[in-house]
Amino acid sequence: MTTDISTPTPTVPADERETFDSLSPVNGDVVGTHPVHTAEDVQVAVSRAHEAALYWSSLSFDERAEKLNIWKGVITRRIAQIADLMHHETGKPHSDATLEVALALDHIAWAGKNAKKVLGRQKVSSGLVMANQAATVEYKPLGVVGVIGPWNYPVFTPMGSIVYALAAGNAVVFKPSELTPGVGGWLAATFSEVVPDHPVFQVVTGLGETGAALCRAGVDKLAFTGSTATGKKVMAACAETLTPVVIEAGGKDAVLVDEDADLDAAADAALWGACANAGQTCIGVERVYVHDRVYDEFLARLVDKAKDLRAEDSPDTKIGPITMPSQLEVIRSHIGDAIARGGRAVVGGPEAVGDRYVQPTILVDVPEDSSAVQEETFGPTMTVSRVADMDEAVSRTNGTRYGLGSTVFAKARGMEIAERIRSGMTSVNGVISFAAIPSLPFGGVGDSGFGRIHGPDGLREFTYAKAIARQRFKPLLALTSFTRTAKADQQLTQMITMLHGRASTLPK
Ligand code: NDP
Repeated sequence: MTTDISTPTPTVPADERETFDSLSPVNGDVVGTHPVHTAEDVQVAVSRAHEAALYWSSLSFDERAEKLNIWKGVITRRIAQIADLMHHETGKPHSDATLEVALALDHIAWAGKNAKKVLGRQKVSSGLVMANQAATVEYKPLGVVGVIGPWNYPVFTPMGSIVYALAAGNAVVFKPSELTPGVGGWLAATFSEVVPDHPVFQVVTGLGETGAALCRAGVDKLAFTGSTATGKKVMAACAETLTPVVIEAGGKDAVLVDEDADLDAAADAALWGACANAGQTCIGVERVYVHDRVYDEFLARLVDKAKDLRAEDSPDTKIGPITMPSQLEVIRSHIGDAIARGGRAVVGGPEAVGDRYVQPTILVDVPEDSSAVQEETFGPTMTVSRVADMDEAVSRTNGTRYGLGSTVFAKARGMEIAERIRSGMTSVNGVISFAAIPSLPFGGVGDSGFGRIHGPDGLREFTYAKAIARQRFKPLLALTSFTRTAKADQQLTQMITMLHGRASTLPK
């Protein structure tokens, strides 16, 4: 019998082991049963990962890239299998699941291909004063990276950390959401087919406590994606051992529509951005600010596009169920608050929230301080507000505690408006485009978190910078020695005056 290296064998005797079920949000069927890994199990996984990290980090960038490439091929050939599992665990339509995996594959390719260029040793200037030194910087793997992921994009989201951490030379221990443990297990198991002799990428399953145990198990960095509230708990747990963290948390992303925008494209993007994946997208559209001059026409087009869109249990539905049942109450309360405070539903409304499905809902005239505008709803809903100009749109967009993504529809001023929005990422005349460009960093500010995945920043996030200064020849001025003379001090003063003195003259 071969041992499964992709997950630790529970330390508790078989007859005392706790398990949990993942359930289909479509009908409540049990999709799979998984072990609740205890703190001790997590510790075992992390210890094994430290050993595996020695092997993995000893490989060259090219060798790691080759293995990541093989893994990419395995996932690609079995894309229907993983998409089916994602559909069962999250309820999302098969086509959305397939798209999600396809986007993740692009990231594996990019991270493997670019790790050497971004992280490998590079010469940097040593400056005039230290001209006798050769200076280099390189980025070394941290060791073991713990990854805690959400359920809404169970492949794309955690892979943004896992793949970049692996490409940088780290071993990974991944705790998927309790709603999507099967998908997490599938990812680690396929990787172990490619790297069968070392547990470089393991999965631990369980509830919140298993995640908390991972924070305390001696990982060298913890990459968390989930809600802001849990992010704070993760950070507090990691602070006990000075374990650094990346926090990819929630958002309240806006679309800004200027008077010269392509209104049809803007309405299409706002609707898809708000309702795709049943609105359960960290960078999903939750608010729309439209220039007064085009507000009525934009709204008419949006309503027209939304009126036939339905969330339902059918093989060709475009919108699936709400994956986490407790979110239904949040969505209901945000819609209720908006209506109670003078807002109107022009599509959907309070009755749109069912037992498992939520129908698309468009709210107008909603006060800016209501929960539907300020808090993450995570459902297929959006507020649409009229603004006098793009200054007001930017100011209102920047008026929440979040700052994850944003979208601008404009012809003349797209880039100018984009630059004024306080969010980690912005798409101009497209929606969510930045997430699918592997060379762009992904992450937020404020309550949306900090640190970056994807792109060169995402690779460096899972490394430490290693600086080396190597003396090439004896210095003309011996500065770092007690043999330094008064003459050397004088020569240094002359040199720094020449280098820096003139530019710092105060303006008259
Ligand atoms: P949660 O914060 O509920 O959970 C995230 C992960 O943390 C899960 O694996 C969860 O495990 C685990 N967890 C729960 N409690 C603890 C704890 N005390 N210590 C350590 N880990 C713990 O988020 P959701 O899964 O509900 O995901 C939705 C949220 O994720 C939304 O706010 C969304 O905006 C955000 N998100 C952000 C993204 C980004 O890149 N910025 C991308 C995707 C989503 P368990 O499930 O077992 O409770």
